[in-house]
Amino acid sequence: MSKRLSIAIDGPAGAGKTTIAREVSRILGYKYVDTGAMYRAVAWRSVQEGIPLADKSAIVALTGDMCIDFVEGDGSRIFVDGEDVSKAIRTPEVTKLSSPVSAISGVRRLLVDQQRRLAGEGGVVMEGRDIGSVVLPNAEVKIFLTASVDERAQRRFTEMQSSGMDADLERLKLDIQERDHRDSTRSDSPLTKAPGGVEIDTDHLSIEQVVGRVVELAQEYGT
Ligand code: C5P
Repeated sequence: MSKRLSIAIDGPAGAGKTTIAREVSRILGYKYVDTGAMYRAVAWRSVQEGIPLADKSAIVALTGDMCIDFVEGDGSRIFVDGEDVSKAIRTPEVTKLSSPVSAISGVRRLLVDQQRRLAGEGGVVMEGRDIGSVVLPNAEVKIFLTASVDERAQRRFTEMQSSGMDADLERLKLDIQERDHRDSTRSDSPLTKAPGGVEIDTDHLSIEQVVGRVVELAQEYGT
């Protein structure tokens, strides 16, 4: 019987993690977990409850009370206490807030516990910022996806336009730079390439090429 591996896919906003992670999980028949959606869900809920960012302990308490579920199917949907928030967590407001919310250590502790439970015994592709370094340090395959800021902003722009959202390319570029800076300089679990990780610059690669490379790395482990 082939091994069921843990595959960690980390990288900055817009590097293509979601597209690649979903496709790799489909090919290998693995579970897909989007950890960024969980931080977004906490940001979304804190807006709903009117909790200011400065009230960190209230945000941690709210995280502990939330029940987050993923439902696989046509894409992966995320539910908070039974409500489908897949779309609501993608607004620019929630996107911006998710970065400072994710820098709160108490929030990270609670979500990392849930992420490890979701990963189970393997057979998982998990994407985020700290999967190879913190959440699943024993993952057999660790990928660090990168791309230039221009390329990443352009991808987000196209993505937002195709889902009918208003988008401003220059604004997106600035937001991405700000999130990159915040995510890589925070003290708890900063965005970084995990030891043993394989960096793939996706700027001039097609989705198929990147997916092929990740699947190849998994096959080297005998999946
Ligand atoms: O990946 P996505 O852009 O949806 O993530 C939203 C935010 O959640 C990121 O800007 C980052 O600050 C945070 N995040 C994190 N750790 C993860 C996944 C996401 O800090 N594992």
